[in-house]
Amino acid sequence: MSKEITARSEDYSQWYNDLVLKGGLADYSAVKGCMVIKPYGFGLWEGMRDVLDKMFKDTGHQNAYFPLFIPKSFLSKEADHVEGFAKECAVVTHYRLKVDEQNGGVVVDPEAKLEEELIVRPTSETIIWNTYKNWIQSHRDLPLLINQWANVVRWEMRTRLFLRTAEFLWQEGHTAHATADEAIAETRQMLDVYADFAENWMALPVVKGVKSANERFAGAVDTYCIEALMQDGKALQAGTSHFLGQNFAKAFDVQFTNKENKLEYVWATSWGVSTRLIGALVMAHSDDDGLVLPPRIAPLQVVIVPIYKGDDQKARIDEKVHAIMADLKKAGIRVKYDDSDNARPGWKFAEYELKGVPVRIALGARDLENNVAEVARRDNKTKESLSLDNLAGTVQNLLDEIQQNIYNKAKAYRDGHITQVDTWDEFIATLDGKAGFVSAHWDGTSETEEAIKEKTKATIRCIPLNNPQEEGKCILTGKPSKERVLFARAY
Ligand code: AMP
Repeated sequence: MSKEITARSEDYSQWYNDLVLKGGLADYSAVKGCMVIKPYGFGLWEGMRDVLDKMFKDTGHQNAYFPLFIPKSFLSKEADHVEGFAKECAVVTHYRLKVDEQNGGVVVDPEAKLEEELIVRPTSETIIWNTYKNWIQSHRDLPLLINQWANVVRWEMRTRLFLRTAEFLWQEGHTAHATADEAIAETRQMLDVYADFAENWMALPVVKGVKSANERFAGAVDTYCIEALMQDGKALQAGTSHFLGQNFAKAFDVQFTNKENKLEYVWATSWGVSTRLIGALVMAHSDDDGLVLPPRIAPLQVVIVPIYKGDDQKARIDEKVHAIMADLKKAGIRVKYDDSDNARPGWKFAEYELKGVPVRIALGARDLENNVAEVARRDNKTKESLSLDNLAGTVQNLLDEIQQNIYNKAKAYRDGHITQVDTWDEFIATLDGKAGFVSAHWDGTSETEEAIKEKTKATIRCIPLNNPQEEGKCILTGKPSKERVLFARAY
């Protein structure tokens, strides 16, 4: 093959990097922790963005845009928020450079010091709630349902392509409500939107749950999340939806007159998913030959490769392919005809396999005579000779089947990697063995969660929603517990 991929069994982390880099999704950049998203990766992000954007609009949200910079003083207005984010903020101190007469090059102009330093947004609650103060006076101004698509910066020390980068792309919803109940309903609704997107578009099964205090968003009352499992048995937080209570309204003095004409603080939510989802997609579905993309999200769903000798055969194949392409496009299928003559068919096959294109159609001169084409599936690597009659219909069904198969496979893996344990020894054995989610009792304290993390690197990924109540004993302290929670080592 043209581009060697490290096997998962050999080095999972190298396998992942190989896929991201050689699959053309992203590249390293000159800035540590920041990556370049290449056209194929960006196409994937655009597809996700379009679907999510429609889902947000269908649930009543509108897009807006707020500044990249936040006055430093804003951050400290919400005590928990600043504590959580201060450690990873990029700070702008000057607004000008000047030529260094002595040594050449440019230096920061000491005379161009900002009166108030600016931070590059790690998230936008503070600047948005400072703005909402001017937008919200009465209950008639509520609810305010806004989303922004943006980049944010969190100065992460240990980064990994897509999964954890210093700058990342995301959307952040920020909503304002008249009552706590309404804000909680919004938080839950957006969690459902994320779960729906993950499962039905990304073919990624997720557990919906709520975070423990340790893992809660800085400034939130409750953080809800969707948690997914990667093929190495590690968990990944794929999206979060926060109920912020009145914390930001109080910090920025955002009050409204309610129906009884009384002043009240506004209730808030925020929710986000990021380019991390691309990493989730890669890690959950791909194999040792390359990416495996679920058809509903794949930038390219079908590639057609001609196999011919001489111009005469090529012309006949071209003619047929153009008709097939028109049918496929009419059916809404994203298709490309790769008739470039600078690579052999075998090389192209490997390349599209690496890129995870769900269906490959090869058409040769003899196929044309027999009114068939060779149709290959990326997910299970099977090949079939299929009739050219109503090929668009056949391919549409096949794409649906592939989508379902990829989901079923990921779900079988995930379900097979949720292990109930009742003792510390079992807990350790499972984490060090098959890994995955470990369902165990915990005494409910942050200290115990912290101690478990110290000893094992496993954290509480979530307390699943609708969790059955069950008497038990904490695996570490033996203290009483009323429910099991999901632990895992996570990205
Ligand atoms: P948060 O605002 O911390 O709740 O994060 C919102 C979303 O962004 C979550 O889905 C996180 O998993 C994701 N996220 C957080 N930090 C990073 C990062 N450094 N790189 C990529 N995605 C991130």
